[in-house]
Amino acid sequence: METSNNMNLLIVGAGHAGSELAVAARNGGWTGGITLLGEETALPYHRPPLSKAYLTGKSDAEAIALRPRSVYESANIDLRFGARMEAIDRVGHRISLADGSSLPYDKLALCTGGRPRPLACAGLPGIGAANLLYLRTMGDADAIRARLREGSRLVVIGGGYVGLEVAASARALGAHVTLLEAQPRVLARVAGAEVSAFYEAVHREAGVDLRTGVMVEGVEMAGDEIASVLCAGGERLPADLVVAGLGMLVNVEAARAAGLAQEGGIPVDEFSCTVDPDIVAAGDCTLQQSAHYRRELRLESVPNALEQARVAAAWLCGKPKPPTAIPWFWSDQYDLKLQMAGLSQGHERCILRGDPAKRSFSAFYLHGDRLLAVDAVNRPAEFMLAKKLLGQGCIAHSERLSDETVPLKELLTSA
Ligand code: FAD
Repeated sequence: METSNNMNLLIVGAGHAGSELAVAARNGGWTGGITLLGEETALPYHRPPLSKAYLTGKSDAEAIALRPRSVYESANIDLRFGARMEAIDRVGHRISLADGSSLPYDKLALCTGGRPRPLACAGLPGIGAANLLYLRTMGDADAIRARLREGSRLVVIGGGYVGLEVAASARALGAHVTLLEAQPRVLARVAGAEVSAFYEAVHREAGVDLRTGVMVEGVEMAGDEIASVLCAGGERLPADLVVAGLGMLVNVEAARAAGLAQEGGIPVDEFSCTVDPDIVAAGDCTLQQSAHYRRELRLESVPNALEQARVAAAWLCGKPKPPTAIPWFWSDQYDLKLQMAGLSQGHERCILRGDPAKRSFSAFYLHGDRLLAVDAVNRPAEFMLAKKLLGQGCIAHSERLSDETVPLKELLTSA
């Protein structure tokens, strides 16, 4: 554990993790300078609304700020926005910036998140097309919003959470939406088949032309815009706008060049420390050793970014490690709040409690009688209970899990 004195803490990446780390370090007793440096120009903001309320215009930039400017000012946190780190000199304890300047650090925190994975297919010019958009930043959401109007033809490529949320928001705005997923089902990487089938049905009911098992082979251009998306099998889908939601690539180029990262992220230990004792890392850009799952994980979620940031801040301030939870996540589509706790990979059975037709149910993922994860749709109380017990290791009385006459708390017990 380190102790804070008048050292200077430089945090690179002003997203969920960076903003939290800055404030948590100050609140935790960091007495030296704190600089929060980020490439974007806006105050750090909530990213989840970008595909939800912000995209539909129900929320605005002010409403999605993580904290007002006054919070950083009163915590004496120096904000440097519109500044991009290019390289890390670990020996000289400096980072260099894209504008040619450099900044010193005593302790460095890397919270650089990720960027959208680009669409790779034949027929796309190297620089992309003016109406091929991705969604990671507020600027991306503004660009999509500017092109989405009643009757516009949107093709979403990718049936992960971002793609599905964009589809739901676009339907709310009256766009015609076609969603293409290469896998046999949506959410294939993160949810069980029952939950995928439910979301496919929900989107189709809402008017989305949702197609699974469809590979995009290329595009047809008209000037600098995509006129149609070409699918394997020969189908041609005319489009005014194409949004690709194909997952993300981690922003770790500088960290890799400095020997801190591999292609998949920056490895950190349980204290969010990297291999360099003067450098911590938090959020989407990290690879962590999960004690709970006994394997290396990269988690892309707000709760994880905040948790790792608080853990890093505590370590920097010489404070005990704050409690941590099992991985959890949420997604809002239409009137549905999906809350997920735990990781369902490797489950042997999925048991449903409640009725998908009534848009209220939980999917329990089991390995033997051990509960691995739960996906709860419009069931916050079941999510909360399962999340708490999952953290302690949880045995499920599987034969009765689907019986709603028995309270859930009688069916789940700590291992
Ligand atoms: P980010 O929030 O991405 O912040 C990283 C910051 O670092 C960025 O501002 C970036 O510009 C900056 N940066 C990168 N490289 C440099 C550099 N070299 N120099 C300077 N600055 C740099 N999670 C949920 O839990 N629930 C949801 O419902 C949900 N919905 C989402 C919807 C969308 C559309 C998206 C894109 C993500 C969603 N997520 C959701 C994921 C969640 O937003 C991320 O897990 C979270 O933002 C991770 O925080 P972070 O601080 O690690 O990274």
